[in-house]
Amino acid sequence: MTSISKVIIIGGGIGGLTLARACLDVGIAVELYEKRGLDAMLSGPGGIFIQRNALRVYKLLQSGQIYQRFYHSGGLILKGGFFDRQGKPLYINAPQFIGEDDLGVCLLRPELQQILFEALPEGTVRTGAAFEKFEDAGNGVRVFFSDGRTAEGDISVGADGLYSKVRATLNGRERLEEPVYSGTCCWRGYFDGSGLPLDSQYSWAEFWGQGNRFGYFDVGGGRFAFYAFNNTPAGGNDGALGGSLNALRSLFKGYADPVPAIIEAIAREKIYRDDIVDRPPLGTQWGQGRVTLIGDAAHPVQPNLGQGGCMAVEDSFELAKLLCTSQAGGDTVPSLLRQFEASRAQRVTRVFNSSRQIGKLGQADTALGCFLRNGIYKLTPARLADLQFKWLFDYQPQWNQTRTNHSA
Ligand SMILES: Cc1cc2nc3c(=O)[nH]c(=O)nc-3n(C[C@H](O)[C@H](O)[C@H](O)COP(=O)(O)OP(=O)(O)OC[C@H]3O[C@@H](n4cnc5c(N)ncnc54)[C@H](O)[C@@H]3O)c2cc1C
Repeated sequence: MTSISKVIIIGGGIGGLTLARACLDVGIAVELYEKRGLDAMLSGPGGIFIQRNALRVYKLLQSGQIYQRFYHSGGLILKGGFFDRQGKPLYINAPQFIGEDDLGVCLLRPELQQILFEALPEGTVRTGAAFEKFEDAGNGVRVFFSDGRTAEGDISVGADGLYSKVRATLNGRERLEEPVYSGTCCWRGYFDGSGLPLDSQYSWAEFWGQGNRFGYFDVGGGRFAFYAFNNTPAGGNDGALGGSLNALRSLFKGYADPVPAIIEAIAREKIYRDDIVDRPPLGTQWGQGRVTLIGDAAHPVQPNLGQGGCMAVEDSFELAKLLCTSQAGGDTVPSLLRQFEASRAQRVTRVFNSSRQIGKLGQADTALGCFLRNGIYKLTPARLADLQFKWLFDYQPQWNQTRTNHSA
């Protein structure tokens, strides 16, 4: 009989924190090691869509307490869509297309991290501990951290993001190769929506231009997060343009309101800029032995569907569910982890491919390409266009009936 009583998690992002809560809910002890200090771990740029598929996981965790806090702090994803740069609708969707009252909740990243962190018992998260290496410990795995700490568990999970050192170590390397640049950079931040010409019938909107686009979404309390993409060589920093605010002003000056008005409102807040990257799918095996990966460590995607973090949440739930099922099953620990990875491969690969496709459309950079793109979206019946997203929301997490509830 396989029995898993303790999991060592590396990384305190949305994936690691959610996995920790899910394991505790099924009676498995966890220690989570995060390389950054607590303040840095609880920070983050702009906002994040926690879409209905991932939100269903939080409804199950900790007797729905995280779910309730999300609703309390965040903004609902309601009617919204894609518009051209003059503000004419290209594609509009509303929660009814999945038969729900909303499509999920959007939160500022620091608020998301804070809520997930507070859902864990004190002492679960150990900060300032950068993963260094692991070794076989017979019936378990021993993990070593840069500050000299070590930890032992039945399994270890790399939830350490895009540049995962756990994944590199599994490949026998010091560090991972560079990810694939999408050709696009992204600015993020948030703004206070009061007094701005935002159309109140939409909770989110994305405006498509030529080689660039601008989006915003409600994150609750009168606040909105924004993002802006632009086709550009990798490694830019807006220095030559006199900073990110000037870069945004100049790129989006031809857009209709509310975009220029939002940019002026952003002027009061910090603006983050990142190159957008991903990594080709790993296939059906992500880890080895008693070590597996979740979230961006396994499958970083471009953010065009707003599903990268949501996939980390789904991973976390499915892994915890399998680990608690194993208490009664006959599988070996490594085979259980390989089952988990194989069970997730198809879905995360589909998200990877769809994210790239939407990115290509949204970032079309010729006049003809934009004309065709906008025309296709305008002419496609909404119900047909919805199908490109509907499969994302079909995920219905469920605990096994035999599970004992250990929610704190
Ligand atoms: C512009 C943009 C917009 C996005 N919008 C959305 C969205 O709306 N919805 C959505 O679902 N997703 C979105 N995403 C994707 C989402 O941000 C990621 O998929 C998600 O953060 C991945 O979570 P994670 O926990 O796997 O990794 P991360 O959030 O990267 O967390 C990894 C953690 O591991 C820690 N760590 C790293 N190395 C070590 C080490 N050696 N030892 C210990 N700890 C370590 C890091 O400090 C970090 O805290 C977006 C991404 C971008 C770039």
